[in-house]
Amino acid sequence: MSKKELSRRDFLKGAAGAAGVAAIGMLAGCGSKDPDPTPTPTPDAPKGIYTPGTYTSKAQGAVSTVLVTMTFSADAITDVVLDVSGETASIGQAAAEELKNALMEKQSAEIDAVGGATLTSKAVMEAANKCIQQAKGEIPVEVITSGSAENGPADWLGTEPEVANVDETWDTDFLIVGAGNGGMCAGAYAAKHGVKFRIIEKGTGSARVRSWYGAIDSEDALALGEKPVDRAALRNELKRYSSGKCNLRTFETWITESADMHKFIKDCYAQYAPDAEVAVTVGDEAVWPDTQGFFFPIQEHNWGGTKMNRHAMFQQIIEEEGGVSIDFNTSLVKLEKTGNKVTGVIAQNTETGKYIRINAAKGVLIATGGYPFNPQMMEALDPVGTAVVTSNVAWPTDTGDGIKAGVWAGAAMQKEAAPMLFDRGIVAPGINAGYMTTSTGDKVFPGTEGQFNLGTQPFLKVNRRGERFTNESGTYDQMSYSAFNQPGGVYASIFDSSMPEDVKRFHTIGCSAQTRKGPERQLQKFEEGKNLDQNGRQIAFVADTLEELADKLGFTGKDKETFLATCARYNELYDKQNDEDFGKPAYRLSPLKTAPFYGFWLGAALLTTEQGLLIDEKARVVDETDRAPIEGLFATGDATGGFFVNNYPCVLPGIAMGRTMTFAIKAVKVANGLEG
Ligand SMILES: Cc1cc2nc3c(=O)[nH]c(=O)nc-3n(C[C@H](O)[C@H](O)[C@H](O)COP(=O)(O)OP(=O)(O)OC[C@H]3O[C@@H](n4cnc5c(N)ncnc54)[C@H](O)[C@@H]3O)c2cc1C
Repeated sequence: MSKKELSRRDFLKGAAGAAGVAAIGMLAGCGSKDPDPTPTPTPDAPKGIYTPGTYTSKAQGAVSTVLVTMTFSADAITDVVLDVSGETASIGQAAAEELKNALMEKQSAEIDAVGGATLTSKAVMEAANKCIQQAKGEIPVEVITSGSAENGPADWLGTEPEVANVDETWDTDFLIVGAGNGGMCAGAYAAKHGVKFRIIEKGTGSARVRSWYGAIDSEDALALGEKPVDRAALRNELKRYSSGKCNLRTFETWITESADMHKFIKDCYAQYAPDAEVAVTVGDEAVWPDTQGFFFPIQEHNWGGTKMNRHAMFQQIIEEEGGVSIDFNTSLVKLEKTGNKVTGVIAQNTETGKYIRINAAKGVLIATGGYPFNPQMMEALDPVGTAVVTSNVAWPTDTGDGIKAGVWAGAAMQKEAAPMLFDRGIVAPGINAGYMTTSTGDKVFPGTEGQFNLGTQPFLKVNRRGERFTNESGTYDQMSYSAFNQPGGVYASIFDSSMPEDVKRFHTIGCSAQTRKGPERQLQKFEEGKNLDQNGRQIAFVADTLEELADKLGFTGKDKETFLATCARYNELYDKQNDEDFGKPAYRLSPLKTAPFYGFWLGAALLTTEQGLLIDEKARVVDETDRAPIEGLFATGDATGGFFVNNYPCVLPGIAMGRTMTFAIKAVKVANGLEG
């Protein structure tokens, strides 16, 4: 049997039985290449310490189970195979080669973590250590049966963990759980207002800064001559978008207090990075030029011109003004309550495994993000969103922990999903949307390319049968959801060389407006064949004829004929400047007449989920029974619900961050008596 023919079952049988398999090549999708053919034991390696054979073990990586298989002679590690196929392609998978080489070189599991891939590195070390222990006869030989998705989706909540003994106790007034976009803002505000607080964070660092935030009538927007936002219209738009399922009072907090949130950030920048410049998106650039009633009344803010990003600045404030160092590698396990009052949490140090009781006299703020990296929650709570996603670009440690802890403590949770779906998850032809199962049993989305911004442009979209199926001019989520009824949950986007002119006329807003900047460069990339996925497959195609494009996109037989007929019909509609078939506004029709022709397959990119604990207008988490505040429990950001229901209104760019930071500040104020 050749290496490639070795089935997964055979592989595991061999590993479990520790039969003397001499060398096993790379598993499909592994990040590592074939092992060095001539492993040599270090000169001073002790002789005869291992039972020769192949041993396998697994450990939890950043987003998936990592599998390590090591082959031993009597006195050396002779081969290492890492299966990190479920880890993020550009991070964990990219580190595999270096980790494998280090294990071979050191002949030990005690190696250095690869920079930027700490969680994958730690998992590899942990699993490698267990392989070594098995080979030494110190622990039983493991039988690997399946990956992390051992329980079905129905069991997403599980039961609150019992922690019999805690190893240490900390006391504080206010505990912030999660050092992401909400938590860091809360920490900086607390530091500046003399609050006694701590921040715990599960990861090794803060979640990535998301730069653009929405605020209403900030002093900078008004200074640019912007008219005050029509607040009644804004409220109604948010209500319409959620079919009335939202909490209008929480909108009110964001609408009335986001200008102060912006001022707080502005003052911080003035002190810590005076070179920073605010960019406010207003005027034409902020208007969705559609005739379908979409409304874009908010102003979006960002800070540039400085090397100090917002989190770096907030961390400095937290440390210097608050005297607090963030407790990284410290994960919320559950909330603690006395009666109806939350008194603190049990957390766990993810490095030592030690449990910590943290008493928080004035309150706990859940800022742990959504559940985009929890496949059980995704499948159970958002089957439709899950079915149309091809790529997950969310923050990998956002696994719904704070939401689960809140529900265990009696909190109400939004009942319907609200994923942030952007119609940009490019994939190779033939790939379906939805989870695939890796060789380690983990569920991951198939796309490796994150967001392909061009996908959002309202060009002709066709399904696998070559049929047009919707009016492509809509919001990001609408296009994504339209694919739910199509084969494979994916569709192809088609355009011709008039693209640079088309995208100017289309005038999409928010981050999709980036396509308008330098479209020629993007076409050049197609020409150079530079659009490859992490597996080296071509994912974006250019052709001299529509027929050739059809072939490249994988249309055959009747589907190809349908595709060509659909393109011809689309040209007719363009000539008439009237979309008789689906009602797309005329200015969003485009010709398919002048070579070259371009195309690629798409599903949705998942940015985050916004279905969490219900809060009131003061950021207080409410209970399931009475919708009354649970004393001592606050939440912000993607861990909360009630603001967006069903989907995220991308026509209001920056609103996710805007409300996250507004409610972060609100929680600090309310819990610590800082408002009148
Ligand atoms: C690529 C991308 C771009 C985006 N750009 C924008 C934008 O420009 N504007 C905008 O409005 N929105 C944007 N968003 C959405 C925005 O990022 C989120 O709405 C926002 O980050 C929510 O903040 P948060 O604090 O709730 O969650 P996060 O910022 O994700 O932070 C949650 C933190 O909690 C930690 N955590 C999780 N579990 C635990 C635990 N058990 N114990 C301790 N800590 C824990 C996580 O490690 C993480 O650090 C973007 C999202 C993505 C993916």
